[in-house]
Amino acid sequence: MENNLNLSIIKCTKCPRLVKFRKKISTEKRKQYINETYWGKPITGFGDLKGKILFVGLAPAAHGGTRTGRVFTGDKSSDFLYKCLYKAKISNQPTSKHLNDGLRLSKAYITTALKCVPPGDKPLKNELDNCFNFFNKEIDNLKNLKAVIALGKIAFDACVYYYKSNYAFHEKIKFGHGKIFKVPDNVLLIGCYHPSPRNVNTGRINEKKMTNLFLKVLKLV
Ligand code: SF4
Repeated sequence: MENNLNLSIIKCTKCPRLVKFRKKISTEKRKQYINETYWGKPITGFGDLKGKILFVGLAPAAHGGTRTGRVFTGDKSSDFLYKCLYKAKISNQPTSKHLNDGLRLSKAYITTALKCVPPGDKPLKNELDNCFNFFNKEIDNLKNLKAVIALGKIAFDACVYYYKSNYAFHEKIKFGHGKIFKVPDNVLLIGCYHPSPRNVNTGRINEKKMTNLFLKVLKLV
């Protein structure tokens, strides 16, 4: 099931604007990666399917996941995220550089609400809608799920949409860093600032703040 789902994700061409953009990124490349072959396709989730915690980002980064072929791999956001995941003992190493770097997650899975990189990190509503089926199935596959940590507001809203679409869940809940909500199936939904360079450089998030939130969630599950 998991492999079939991932194969369907990788082959998907449903959003013309995003198919065009991921091709453009992968052909033009960033100067420092000019000799690399970019992955250039949609990105699947990664980690422990038996995990209790799901981390959700918005979409693969242009020169991160879209280049390397793995979610949160090979860019500044992943550098920051994995320092925190390692400190919380969720990952076996503090870096996520490329597909064969030996990275493993313990008790956790990571994915994105949208599987293709959108221009300006701003997806259109119909693109999120198109991709929701994949996101929905990925969550359904996590049978031991106890907590969902949404990295940023759009990811948080996609998670809320998942619960509203699949359960009689009508509460109005709003993203906030460290805010914890109980959603159906006794799952906790947690808001967390995205580990983007912008959030890190402005001091909105730092390693201690993010690691402490992960440690708190680990205790709750
Ligand atoms: S964003 Fe999702 S639905 Fe759209 S082309 Fe990529 S994988 Fe397919």
